[in-house]
Amino acid sequence: MATLAPASLEFTRLPHPAPLALDARTAALADPGFGKLFSDHMVTIEWTEGRGWHDAVVGPLAPLPLHPAAAVLHYAQEIFEGLKAYRLADGTMALFRPEANAARFNSSAKRLAMPELPEDLFVEACRQIVAVDGDWFPDIEGGSLYLRPFMIATEAFLGVRPAKSYKFIVIASPAGNYFKSGAPAVSIWVSQYTRAAPGGTGAAKCGGNYAASLVPQAEAMAKGHDQVVFLDAAEHRWIEELGGMNLYFVFDDGTLLTPALTGTILPGITRDSLLTLAREEGLTVREDRYSIDQWRADAASGRLLETFACGTAAVVTPVGKVTDPVEGPFTIGSGGPGQLTQKLRQKLVSIQRGEAEDRHGWVM
Ligand code: PMP
Repeated sequence: MATLAPASLEFTRLPHPAPLALDARTAALADPGFGKLFSDHMVTIEWTEGRGWHDAVVGPLAPLPLHPAAAVLHYAQEIFEGLKAYRLADGTMALFRPEANAARFNSSAKRLAMPELPEDLFVEACRQIVAVDGDWFPDIEGGSLYLRPFMIATEAFLGVRPAKSYKFIVIASPAGNYFKSGAPAVSIWVSQYTRAAPGGTGAAKCGGNYAASLVPQAEAMAKGHDQVVFLDAAEHRWIEELGGMNLYFVFDDGTLLTPALTGTILPGITRDSLLTLAREEGLTVREDRYSIDQWRADAASGRLLETFACGTAAVVTPVGKVTDPVEGPFTIGSGGPGQLTQKLRQKLVSIQRGEAEDRHGWVM
């Protein structure tokens, strides 16, 4: 278990004048869903040109006073992260690899011409929200307190250039299972739209990427599928990732394959953790290209045993069926959860929940 060094800014705590009553909170936490319920507080840190990061505050969750000309509202200068806090068996709250989220946040910041936030401040802000609102953790199967750190450009200026003031915020949202059905296997629609192009922002976690993925995701759902898979922009042939998850493929010779990080894919922290865990299991893992045609052929021949998606929200989720609007559908394995998918999911979840040895210092 990793511990935390003192942060480089003092956090001022402003108590909430009227936090949600205990019985109302308890009722809400029984079925929190995903992303619709929010805890009582938020953390904010300001950045202004010449002054840097200042005014770190843990205060009541409240709407933001924002000038209508704020750059975020016009040119989408915004980045975000997503990570979960859990309650361990001994009652303490834990975060999973928050410094990995901090590092990815800063690489997103660089791509969006935003100031980098010292990693200790990112992690301390996450720790502060959990310290003040840890009681918002939903003690249910698959429950977590989902943290959403993000940064917006606040300067009121309509010229197109990097803003000169920013706000970093962390909010917390109690969450149950990500997929409503707690689906045993998800079905996937192959998008004709492109998510990210070489040289673009695909590897950054910026709001604009997600705005562009809404139409393809809505189309997938209208066709009766859970998620959309994006192919590469140039050839529309190589598999990249889902709208909010990375992909892994499991073959009958015991090898695993995940699309390589080419700059158009988000470098998932779950993806990275699974690379390590799979190698520990003695599996050979390749980071390489994999085409949609090969995916279909390998599923048909039986060479491909399993496919799973991975990400913070849904952890590890089997993919049962894939539908290409041109070539039609194909099924992977039995169409249900595969053995290795379940094993890796269990391995990761038990580390996250403090039930297995944390050999890599991932749990804070
Ligand atoms: N790809 C995309 C596009 C995502 O939004 C996410 C969720 N952050 C992931 C992959 C998975 O990343 P992680 O494992 O860090 O949650």
